[in-house]
Amino acid sequence: SGILYVVATPIGNIDDMSYRAVTTLQQVNLICAEDTRHSQRLMEHYAIKTPMMSLHEHNEQSRIQQIMDRLESGDSIALISDAGTPLISDPGFKLVRELRDKGYKVSPIPGPSAIVTALSVAGLATDSFSFWGFLPAKSSARKARYSELAEHSETLVFYESSHRIVDSLKDLLEVLGDRTIAVARELTKNFETIISSETSKVIEMMLADSNQQKGEFVLIISGNTPSEKGLSVEAKNVMGSLLSELP
Ligand code: SAM
Repeated sequence: SGILYVVATPIGNIDDMSYRAVTTLQQVNLICAEDTRHSQRLMEHYAIKTPMMSLHEHNEQSRIQQIMDRLESGDSIALISDAGTPLISDPGFKLVRELRDKGYKVSPIPGPSAIVTALSVAGLATDSFSFWGFLPAKSSARKARYSELAEHSETLVFYESSHRIVDSLKDLLEVLGDRTIAVARELTKNFETIISSETSKVIEMMLADSNQQKGEFVLIISGNTPSEKGLSVEAKNVMGSLLSELP
């Protein structure tokens, strides 16, 4: 039977396609795309004429049998999302899970992902990090998420929307204090900006220039390491209340 290729596409700059990504998309029998209209530009740019079919969060389950039938008949298929690496906060997990369970071959064609792209320039520790997807939309849930992660010593990586980035940073400052962070905006695009400083300073910079609040964001927060903070969050809270008792 055929192979499902999971193919990474650019996160902004259309030239960030690997040579193998292009030839794979040209040679497969079918491309499953999150949004076929969105991917049209990529297809035109690279003269890819392969038929496309949609595969998004609302129809993924119902596409699985169809895709298995095509693979069974010997066709090879590529899966792409609107940007970056499929399955990373994007559709494809159910499909890949099911194909693996049934013994089909699934092969990656690696390329950009906003997580690793942001980490590569943030200047925060990368020896260990954890990725937490999109932050919750509501402030209360967001604060709870930050609070759950307070003791984590590894670097924390999130996706955040432009509508909430400033509010999210304010919540972060309130819950975790003034950590060193990096906000990576519009990576690989015209208005790419990476701001790295203490949270309070980043908020100031973003409020001073409303353009800094537009676009796509990766938020990276330094972990609760001894070198970064000296004390655990709990110890700092105890210290704080003790200090406030002093004359
Ligand atoms: N699959 C994608 C990947 O591998 O990066 C992520 C898809 S997720 C639905 C989209 C989110 O990724 C955006 O809301 C933003 O937080 C982040 N993102 C994607 N492209 C970006 C870019 N060029 N600059 C900064 N963040 C980006």
